[in-house]
Amino acid sequence: MNVPFLDLKAQQRTVKAEVMPLWEEILDSAAFVGGKHICGFEEEFAQACRALHCVAVANGTVALQFIFEALGLKPGDEVIVPVNTFIATSEAVSAAGGKPVFVDVLPDTYNIDPAKLESAITPKTRGITAVHLYGQPADMDSVAAVAGEFGLWVVEDAAQAHLAEYKGRRAGSMGIAAGFSFYPVKNLGACGDAGAVTTNDPDLAEMLRKLRDHGSAKKYYHDLEGYNGRCAAIQAAALRVKLKYLPQWNEKRRQHARRYMDLLEDVPEVVLPGVREDCTPIWHLFVVQIDNRDCVQQSLAEKGVATALHYPVPLHLQRAYAHMNLAEGAFPVAEAYARRLLSLPMYAELNDDQIDYVCQCLEEAVRK
Ligand SMILES: *Cc1c(COP(=O)(O)O)cnc(C)c1O
Repeated sequence: MNVPFLDLKAQQRTVKAEVMPLWEEILDSAAFVGGKHICGFEEEFAQACRALHCVAVANGTVALQFIFEALGLKPGDEVIVPVNTFIATSEAVSAAGGKPVFVDVLPDTYNIDPAKLESAITPKTRGITAVHLYGQPADMDSVAAVAGEFGLWVVEDAAQAHLAEYKGRRAGSMGIAAGFSFYPVKNLGACGDAGAVTTNDPDLAEMLRKLRDHGSAKKYYHDLEGYNGRCAAIQAAALRVKLKYLPQWNEKRRQHARRYMDLLEDVPEVVLPGVREDCTPIWHLFVVQIDNRDCVQQSLAEKGVATALHYPVPLHLQRAYAHMNLAEGAFPVAEAYARRLLSLPMYAELNDDQIDYVCQCLEEAVRK
């Protein structure tokens, strides 16, 4: 049997008949920038996240960058970022003129460790970025408690957490603002690059609208220097169609996660992801930890099971951050994790036979 890591084509087949007429209308009207699908998507996505405002932008990285800029980050200002995340989280801080400061993650849920925040705070710290990694919300109440004590804001990186819940609250409604990515492989993926910010703060939303469009609210009148960071109309149209399917796609992923957990529960060599009881994850990725990871990955590949690593090198050991002089040993949880993690196939269209086969192959491989 062949189990791909991801089957993006299957998702497009589901939505194609609904997306094509919208794209045809956009082509016929040549309304490529702005327009009813941008406004419509912003309204629908804000509602889905239970946030008051949504600002659609070009991708998830600029969504985060614009948030930091709108919050008035100044050169030298520090923003705390978990050390195990995609580099976009820290890139966005730097692009906005700030300095990312890394903090280690929890060994079970993989999210930022609230107990390690305080020792990373300095007089230059302005805020904390909580990443809801792999689709499970970070412990927002504990993060917010530390932030409150030190007068910091909390930004959510919700790029992997569309509609994920924490204590009944949705990702995108829990911080001062949240950055979302609609890169095609995300749970809600566009047909190209797109992203969005959600926030309950109307002034922040207004500033974000300016930042994405050359600092202007009115064409050719510029209140500040901004960027070209708009979302394309064809992406917003496709996203509106896909948003309708997102709850059922996420539910499928939850079913798959439960099946993985049931089948692997009695395999002690495979450490399953920790799930908080007060969270409803959306399983962007299903990540386990094992010894001899590279051998296991190889033997799965030989049996037709594709897997991936998220992420093979923690941020502090990336060449891009060599200037920080953070040696191996600085963040032991993330480092151990980078050696041991393995992402198993996870997407709505996966079927039970495929999951059974992945688990059977994994069990054989870890016992070899
Ligand atoms: C995908 C991702 C981003 C960046 O989104 P893009 O749309 O690719 O720019 C940021 N943070 C995390 C955690 C991501 O997974």
